[in-house]
Amino acid sequence: MIQTQLYIDGQWQSPIDQGTRAILSPADESVIAQAAEATRADARLAIAAARKAFDGPWRQTTIRDRAKLLNKIAELIDRDAEKLAHLESLNTGKTLTESRTDMGDIAATFRYFAGLVASESGAVNEAPHHVISRTLREPVGVCGLITPWNYPLLQAAWKIAPALGAGNTVVIKPSNLTPLTTHHFTQLVAELDLPPGVFNLVTGGAEVGAELAESLDVDLVSFTGGAFAGESIMKAATGNFKRIGLELGGKNPNIVFADADLDAAVDYALNAAFFHAGQVCSAGSRLMIEDSIYDAFISRLAERLPRIVIGNGFHGETQMGPVQSAQQHEKILCMVQAGIAEGARLVHGGKRPAGDVFKQGYWLEPTLLADVTADMKIAKEEIFGPVITAERFRSEEEVLRAANDTPYGLAGAVWTRDLDKANRMSRGLRFGTVWVNDYHPYFPEAPWGGYKASGIGRELARVGLDEYTELKHSYINLAPKAMGWFGA
Ligand code: NAD
Repeated sequence: MIQTQLYIDGQWQSPIDQGTRAILSPADESVIAQAAEATRADARLAIAAARKAFDGPWRQTTIRDRAKLLNKIAELIDRDAEKLAHLESLNTGKTLTESRTDMGDIAATFRYFAGLVASESGAVNEAPHHVISRTLREPVGVCGLITPWNYPLLQAAWKIAPALGAGNTVVIKPSNLTPLTTHHFTQLVAELDLPPGVFNLVTGGAEVGAELAESLDVDLVSFTGGAFAGESIMKAATGNFKRIGLELGGKNPNIVFADADLDAAVDYALNAAFFHAGQVCSAGSRLMIEDSIYDAFISRLAERLPRIVIGNGFHGETQMGPVQSAQQHEKILCMVQAGIAEGARLVHGGKRPAGDVFKQGYWLEPTLLADVTADMKIAKEEIFGPVITAERFRSEEEVLRAANDTPYGLAGAVWTRDLDKANRMSRGLRFGTVWVNDYHPYFPEAPWGGYKASGIGRELARVGLDEYTELKHSYINLAPKAMGWFGA
């Protein structure tokens, strides 16, 4: 049985009150680990350690030291990639293929930020000859990093790599449902020669996250998760006006025009909605199909859905695993029922698959609800499960208005062969990422984040490093002389 601990001030330790939490397999509800469950008191110790480390010699590290550190972490991830991928699949239920891809992306993220950090240099500004004016980037300080359960280590990497790379110290709190890969990652960090307190792990629930958001000793909080928790973090962060980064939910349209390559559009409609059983913040669960191809498109999806192989993520033939928790399972079923009650037509799924193997665990059939209209709850709220809701549209203006008519603005896609239309739609959609004739690709070089209620700030890319820095104007007068101010 895996047992996890907290990592505070360079020491592995149990929570002060010895709290533990049983971690369950989403595939069969068996106990796979006993995780340390921290409280606010443990979080305070971790914050104090990170504060002390930031105010100590860590501030003197060079960009070369930090780039080397990120590259070393990438090497260790490569070394333990298979072990990490197994832990991620065990804990989240996602297929091993998906987890292996995650580990490759995580190592790439560390290498990308290593390169960026190594190329950091301040700017020298135009100024009078006796003045040196420079614009410098400096670390923000102690960073509280709070991550969700759907991409536990990937989301952590998007925060840890730029935070450490920019010279900050870190307290990370993964979701208490999925702490296993972040715990193993911490074991990798513990192999390195970092000063105590630079990297701290506290596993626990909302109260630990709230402590990070409230503490006056934390300078920046970066959170990925739902809008509800995001709002409370934003309020809690006002105590010391800490920097905040929020990556929240989405209601992401996948828009198919009649002139699209329909083979590709059908195929990617499945990828958009059922990848990781739909538990992706950018999942394209809101499918919007042009009227003239609507019926044919729904028929083609209806034919494909029953062929999706549901099963344990460790089995080679599995295409879709379970959802992560009992709570999520229940929520998704309720959303499907709400959709049917509002008049949506259930084409496929909407229930636990048949068979003994699916009696335990959080299994759901891939689900298609057709004839959804923009006013229905299922067209407005994030479902976060393997569910496609299909809406019909008649014109470009209509679909643009309906797709933008959501508080969210994370990601969306457009399928068309008309380049002019593709460009108009990409510009018209108010979302942080707009794909044309594709779905889901992202990489460290491009920014990730949302408009409106999908968040504040961006991760990845240059901007994802800048979020972890303060800008300083350094002005040095090389030849000071009295000016006779106030006539003295
Ligand atoms: P969640 O908001 O319940 O929890 C996220 C994290 O916040 C967890 O570590 C949790 O313990 C902690 N937390 C909960 N309440 C808190 C509070 N009041 N103060 C401080 N911390 C608190 O989210 P979840 O259910 O773990 O994740 C699913 C959500 O995350 C979805 O809405 C999804 O869209 C979103 N998400 C967004 C992105 C993105 O890049 N925009 C990526 C992944 C997931």
